[in-house]
Amino acid sequence: MFTNIKHVFFDLDRTLWDFKANSRATLSEIYIEFNLQEKGIRTAMDFIKTYEKINEQMWDLYRIGQLSKEKLRYGRFQKALLLFGIKEDLIGQEIGDFYIKHSPFKVGLFDHTHEILAFLKNKYELHIITNGFEEVQHVKLRESKLLDYFDKIITSEAASAKKPDSKIFEYAENQTHANKEDCLIIGDDIEADIKGGLAAGWKVIHFDPDHEFDKIDNVLTIHHLQELEKQL
Ligand SMILES: [Mg+2]
Repeated sequence: MFTNIKHVFFDLDRTLWDFKANSRATLSEIYIEFNLQEKGIRTAMDFIKTYEKINEQMWDLYRIGQLSKEKLRYGRFQKALLLFGIKEDLIGQEIGDFYIKHSPFKVGLFDHTHEILAFLKNKYELHIITNGFEEVQHVKLRESKLLDYFDKIITSEAASAKKPDSKIFEYAENQTHANKEDCLIIGDDIEADIKGGLAAGWKVIHFDPDHEFDKIDNVLTIHHLQELEKQL
């Protein structure tokens, strides 16, 4: 199934970097730092759950180009606070800045990340392909000691296109001097990574650590990164 592959592209957030755990750690800090309990939010988990729901909705809009980066950064916090009756846009902005500044320094990775990258590096050229913000993704990779495994870090900002847009996949091929037949993407997001990768003519592997999704026809799903050792 995965013969002739030369280039393996990893998505970063929720595939190697444990976005949920790292984000929640930062949101808990925000809850304390900005006295959100005094402002009427009963627990840190109430704040986290509300923020996560809104962030997801706003990311979907950002991904299809209906929301600017700025609006996403601040709006997700302003909107979350508003649901608790906190109508202070400035605090939403300050929290947005705090989040962007601190969350990339969190270093929670999925189990077996270093081991699998060390294993694959002997056999393939490894790259990152991510929709995250350029400056943020580089900090995450550096802080979690992942940079050395990768030849190219492809971000949507540099490519001027976001997964699942085929343009970012073509950009990645150009940057790595790869043919699409030689490329494999491993990612958690069905739209961005899996459908996007397939539409670009790449091979794909779906990473579903929490067993959240139904099996996709003709697509290999793994639940743990270690499974890649048997496949690649
Ligand atoms: Mg992802």
